[in-house]
Amino acid sequence: MQRFLILLLLLLVPAFGWADILHLKDGRQLQGKILSETATEVKIEVQFGRSRAAMTIARKDIEKIERGALPDEEFRKRLEGLDPADLAGHQALIEWCKQKKLLDQAKLVQSRLPVIEIAARKKLNPEAWCRPCDALGKTVCSGCEGQGALSKPCQRCGGSGGLSCRTCALKEDGLLDCRRCGGAGTYERFDPTKGRKVKTRCGDCSGKGKIECPTCKGKRKAPCKDCKGKGGVPVPCEECAGKKKMTCKNCVGSGISTGGAGQKPKIPPKEEKPKPRKKPVIDGDPFG
Ligand SMILES: [Zn+2]
Ligand SMILES: [Zn+2]
Ligand SMILES: [Zn+2]
Ligand SMILES: [Zn+2]
Ligand SMILES: [Zn+2]
Repeated sequence: MQRFLILLLLLLVPAFGWADILHLKDGRQLQGKILSETATEVKIEVQFGRSRAAMTIARKDIEKIERGALPDEEFRKRLEGLDPADLAGHQALIEWCKQKKLLDQAKLVQSRLPVIEIAARKKLNPEAWCRPCDALGKTVCSGCEGQGALSKPCQRCGGSGGLSCRTCALKEDGLLDCRRCGGAGTYERFDPTKGRKVKTRCGDCSGKGKIECPTCKGKRKAPCKDCKGKGGVPVPCEECAGKKKMTCKNCVGSGISTGGAGQKPKIPPKEEKPKPRKKPVIDGDPFG
């Protein structure tokens, strides 16, 4: 009984960061999260200390309900409140987002998990986390420097990436005779209003008789087709089979050095569903 009274006293202490407040008719306040509402009752989850309890309050006892922060606002608060190495906390936040249908926010947290997992690994193993791979368990492939492929010089162009343009190779300045006017700059056209042929300035070459090579646009070089102008042909890296990364030799991929005798590496749990909380649940109105 005494314990129950202490419990009640604690309930009246506003817990920071909680969203909804029930103002009761007798002047007391309950701060927590409204779980469900019916025409006659409001079910609220209240936090006291490190525990939580669900309580059902009759509507007739409620003066007013103060709704807490908007879901996104609360999400930001929760996210900011998390330790960057708290993997379980972030996983719980993802579940919370899903419950609240904050799917974009859930994705945001999800995208941060790999970084958080590494941070958690470092925090749990302050001495043992693997320095050579920065606790990642993987290192950049030394064979290809993380490119996944090595570049072999293209045989066709000798590595230059370009071949001289065939279209204009034999012409000076990369200019071709204009096809429309045959290089004259003008051509004859029949004018029906005059009933005879008239000399017309060639529009294709602006009267110059020459046009820029359309194949190379006057550059005189055409990109080599074998290497698409890159000069090199990629060959998959044999050391990492094109994966760009290699398993860290120091920690064999765990991200934690196993060198220390008797030191068991602590590995943060992977993608685990949060365990159901074994905390007291008072279902019913303790004031009633
Ligand atoms: Zn490689
Ligand atoms: Zn080439
Ligand atoms: Zn050309
Ligand atoms: Zn022309
Ligand atoms: Zn390592």
